[in-house]
Amino acid sequence: MRRVVLIRPKRDGRIFGKAPGSPYTLMRLASLVPEEIPVEIWDENIRALPLDTLGEGDLVGITSMTLTIERAEAIARVAKRQGAGVVVGGVHATLMPEHVQRFAHSVFVGEGYFTWPQAIQDFAAEGTQGLKPLYRDEAWANLEGVARISDRVIQMVRENEHYWTPYLEITRGCPRNCSFCTAIRVSGRRMRLRPVDEVVDEIERRGIKRFFLTDDNFGLNFITDPDYCAELFQALMRLGLHSWTAQSEMSVANYPELLEMGRAAGLDKHFIGFESVNPDNRRELGGKSRGKVEQTREAIRKIHATGTSVVGLFVMGFDEDTPATFQAMWDFIRTSELDGVSVTVLTPYPGTPFRALCEQEGRLLDVPWRHYDTAHVTYVPRHFTVDELRDWYDWLCRRIYSPWQIARRGFRSLSRHPISQAGKKLFSSFSTDYGYRRTYGWRHVT
Ligand code: SF4
Repeated sequence: MRRVVLIRPKRDGRIFGKAPGSPYTLMRLASLVPEEIPVEIWDENIRALPLDTLGEGDLVGITSMTLTIERAEAIARVAKRQGAGVVVGGVHATLMPEHVQRFAHSVFVGEGYFTWPQAIQDFAAEGTQGLKPLYRDEAWANLEGVARISDRVIQMVRENEHYWTPYLEITRGCPRNCSFCTAIRVSGRRMRLRPVDEVVDEIERRGIKRFFLTDDNFGLNFITDPDYCAELFQALMRLGLHSWTAQSEMSVANYPELLEMGRAAGLDKHFIGFESVNPDNRRELGGKSRGKVEQTREAIRKIHATGTSVVGLFVMGFDEDTPATFQAMWDFIRTSELDGVSVTVLTPYPGTPFRALCEQEGRLLDVPWRHYDTAHVTYVPRHFTVDELRDWYDWLCRRIYSPWQIARRGFRSLSRHPISQAGKKLFSSFSTDYGYRRTYGWRHVT
């Protein structure tokens, strides 16, 4: 066996010289490669891939979301043609293994913490002949001690040089099962927690002062395990972190003490999945939101009272949505105190209840997987034609992501911090909205 090459297909590319987020999953999988085997991480967001160097004796591992699976397939076919062993994992492989099996030697279903080391052993022993067609995790891993990022990998990736935002995982899982979300199938229903001392150790060894949590719904831990959250915040307070961000739900507004402790530990922004301003959609929202505007405003007010910023996440195109929902959404956003906004189009991702419904009713559109970017319409909506939904979404995005609206929210976010921190907070105050504007803009060039 010559080496292991782990590849992330291109998604965002570089923005002002750096890629937006670090290749966190690959960093953890690379850390499971035994020290005596050379390992490389190739991130197509930061450089062109030297695919011509791949050959016999190389084990190529590709991770991919649904959105990038076509590029993953192209890379896999080249690598295979040149004699390398090719395994593919990630969200899309987990949810549609039968699709990925068409172009990889092996498909990974699940997290891969146990099966990836097994595949390396199989390949080392017998090359591509040794690889099984399917590696499936049979249980959700206990996160204690799992895939600890090694110093070899930290030195190889040089996160601070190549990436704007390091990613970090502290907890995993979500039981809500919102109709459009893959979390329950990809991360499991039970909330799993990393030991606090392991989180602290990783942050210190990586030398990161700001990060974005990949946790599906960190805020739910405020309800399910408040003692863990308090212990975590106490420990992180000592690290002098600049800022970090978590994906959450509006119930965190009911825990002001934890919000304040989080703020003191650097958690100064929550991305909150309010999802809709149409109460008729409540059945789709897993019980975390009822689509009621007054409740949403109240939650934002309470969270702001602790000095914490709120980015609102909303989805448009549910079966109960009509043109009036778009008008209501805009009325809400322009009068809200949100510090950033993400408005996306409902997307029937593999493995979700919404996709099952679309399949049953023959409503899936025949579009490339790269259109599963939450900015394209990929299904037949209930109360719109496809063109109408697209036009209404454009109408909304042109308003929400106008330079004036982005500036307004960005300066509001900036004003939540002392003037002495303005320099440090400038980037994060505007980058969220800018990133979403960019996502929306992509649709017009692909
Ligand atoms: S609460 Fe969030 S993470 Fe959980 S199922 Fe709903 S959308 Fe997914």
